[in-house]
Formats: sequence, structure tokens, C-alpha cells
Amino acid sequence: MRPSILARLLLASALASAQVTAQRPEGALTLDNVHIVEAEHARTSALMCVRVEGERLTRIDAAGSKSCRRDARVVDLRGRYLMPGLIDMHAHLTLGPLEFRRERGRAVMQAQADDTIAEHNARRLIGFGVTTLRNPGGDLAAASRFKARVADGSLVGPETFNAGPVINNADLPGVAIAARTADEMERAVREQVEAGADWIKLYTGLSPERLKSGIDAAHRHGRPAVAHLDGVAWPDALAMRLDGIVHLMPISPNLLDPDARKSWQARARGGTYSFFEWWEHFDPDGPAADRLVASFQQHRPVFDATLVAFHAAFVQDRDTTYKDDAGRYAHPRLLANWHDWFTFAVGWKPEDFVRARAIWPKVQRMAVRLYATDARMTLGTDMSNPWIAPGISLHSEMQLLADAGVPTSRILLSATRNAADALGAGNRLGRIAPGFEADLLVLDANPLTDIKHTRAIHAVVLNGKFLGADALDQLKGE
Ligand SMILES: [Zn+2]
Repeated sequence: MRPSILARLLLASALASAQVTAQRPEGALTLDNVHIVEAEHARTSALMCVRVEGERLTRIDAAGSKSCRRDARVVDLRGRYLMPGLIDMHAHLTLGPLEFRRERGRAVMQAQADDTIAEHNARRLIGFGVTTLRNPGGDLAAASRFKARVADGSLVGPETFNAGPVINNADLPGVAIAARTADEMERAVREQVEAGADWIKLYTGLSPERLKSGIDAAHRHGRPAVAHLDGVAWPDALAMRLDGIVHLMPISPNLLDPDARKSWQARARGGTYSFFEWWEHFDPDGPAADRLVASFQQHRPVFDATLVAFHAAFVQDRDTTYKDDAGRYAHPRLLANWHDWFTFAVGWKPEDFVRARAIWPKVQRMAVRLYATDARMTLGTDMSNPWIAPGISLHSEMQLLADAGVPTSRILLSATRNAADALGAGNRLGRIAPGFEADLLVLDANPLTDIKHTRAIHAVVLNGKFLGADALDQLKGE
């Protein structure tokens, strides 16, 4: 072989290895000398050896075990920490920018699904250790195109569980469809299930009757119903057998005592001002808050707080890490959309930000109370909404919960085992045990002692494939 051909071949293979691919792993992979984070016991294990064959974990032995290491590619992790891959339960994977279109002289809002943005998000999610997600509302055709590309190995991305467009009292092209009668609700749910929906997402504009028909329709079709609510109080929706609630924003007038309700409604401006105006009248240790906690204990909903989505809005009058993170990791067209006009604080005056920040301790107190219940507590970010960048925002969510006072062990369980169970995948995801899928996070430091250590990512294992620092940087676009 002539040197020039050899050089070209070497160059070609070097280029090939520089590309992070999603091909199936070959042979066994052994991770030796690693502490397993046992969040359910709030402790870490002694040094262990973890063996992966194909896409599954096959053995967990004491460090150095011969049968664990035999004929495998052995990675010595030198006392690092191993935890299951993270699960973001509120990530709008395929969502494009929110924009206006003229239709017969009227401005119509829309947000179309976008495969390029989905791919951008997917790479950064993996780069930050998010190996599974629930898309709580989006285009189902785009979701199934994404799934197919991950399955055939042409795209590196998380496993996805998808809801269709949210079902509401009005259409918003690409985001929401209207169901004004029980028949329309039944049809909307059936069509979404036929198009591959794993969940049905019900929305704030539905009357109590329509919400109930949505929950019943979802159950007739064998799907859980999850809702974003404001008018209907959470305990009332849970009594209708609603399976899940999103956002720690329970801003129903029915959760205020009569005097507080009157004084709120007398001055309420509605819209996103409610995100703080309602809390000004709510006591997170009062009787209505006790009712919320009791309803969580009784019905055990799947819940994600998405604190980061609200906090990012509450501080957006300042330079924030959320904006920095968005600048680095959000898709440029979404970023431009947020800089142009679309945020949760459109129209807010300086004093509104001051008032919003003043109620934050109440949100924190409610988070602590709810995350202490036996409900199916998970984590979500509302990725692709303003300033919520893929992957890194789940670490911000964990930090916000820790700052509120939620114990790190509870946060880590919410990000892994609880979420896997809630997705009906608790027999193969969310745990480190033989037979489980090898979606793993290797950390330089113990996340139980400080939640910020989830950011100290040494490597990610995705379906048994080891992704080291270079691969992760490449996925994050760094
Ligand atoms: Zn959302």
C-alpha cells in the first residue's frame, strides 16, 4: 500500500471516530472501581464492578472481580460515582419557535414541530446525561420520526415517551387542539392514541366537565391523562382520577379562602401575572396547602414542578445563568424567539419582577411539602420554553429543588427511579441492577453530598455505549 493511501485511510478513520455515532456497542464493557449512588438509601456503595453486555447491565460485583472483568473493555473509574441516566419528564423535544402568521387578516399564533431543533436538543440532552424524556405535548408525526431515527442508529438521542398536542378549549396550530364537547374529546384522544401517543395532555382552558371527559377518554384508550391546570383545583382533578399534574403553579381561585379569593380577583390581571399574584394570597402552610398535600398522599399523581421555567422568568430582568445556558445550548432559532419577544414575563414592569421574586419562598415551601409526599414525584424542565435549554436545565431544576430544601436523595430518585416507574418502564430503566438498560451517568463527585455534582459528568453510558469527555463535548457543541 502506498503511504499516501495509508495516510488517507488513517485520516478517514480518525474522522470517523471523531463523529459520535449511535451504533450498537460491541463486546462487553466493564466499569470498575466505582461507587454506586443508592439514592433510595441516601448512601453510596463500596467500590464495585459493573458489567454491561450489549445494551444491558449483566453483573454487579465487588471491585476487581475477575468474572466482571473477563474479556471486556475495562474502564477503571478510580472511585468515581455511578447513577442511572437522568429523566426529564417535561421536555418539548420537537417544538419550534412561537410565531405569528397572518390568516385572513388575523394574526394566528403557531409553533410548528422542527426536526432540526429536535436533533439539536437530543445531542445536548445526552451530553448532559438525560437519557430518557417525556414529551408532554407536541406533534406526534415528528415524535415518531425522531423515535425511528434513534432506533435505526442514525441519531444519538434519548428514549422518548410522547403526548400529542395538548387538548384544550381552543386551537393553537402545532401546540394545541380544541375539544369543546365530549364527542370531540373522544375523537381527539382516539386519534392521538392511534398516532402513537403514550400520554394524553389536557390543558388549562378545559371546563371541569371537559377535563373529566378527557380523563375518561384517555383511560378508555389505556393511556394516562396528565394536565396543566389553573381554574380547576388540583384536588378536584385528582378526584376525577387524573394521573398526573405538571408545573408547581396550582393557581386556582378554589384554593384560596373566600377573603383571599375576593382580594385576588378584585385586582388580578390574569395571564402570567397570576404566576405571582395568586401566591401573594396563598399560604403554603395554610388549610388549602394541607388539602393539596393530602390529595397528593391519597391519589399519588405523577408530578413535575418545572421550577426552572418559572424562576427563569422571575429573574429575566437580570443577567442570569439561565440566559447564559440558553445562549450556549438552546437552538439559535428558539433563542432568537425568546430575545425577540416570547417569554413568560411579556409586559412585566420592574416592580412585577420584584413581586415575583418576593413570593418565591412560598413556591419553595410548597415544593418541599409536595416532594415529601409519597406521590410519584419526578422532575421536569419545560425545555424549549423561554430560556430552558436542553439538558443543562434539568441540572438547574435539581439545584432549585435543593435550594428549596428538598433532600438530594429525593431529588435523585425523582430524576431516575420514580420517573421510570411513572413511565411504566420501571422494570428496565431508572435503576442500576442486572437486567436493566445500561443508561448511566459517571460523576466525578458524590451527588448526594451536593446536588451540583450531577454536573461533574465524567462519562455517559447510553444503551451500553460509553461516551467519554470528547464525545460529550462534541454532543454539546463545545
Ligand atoms: Zn410544557
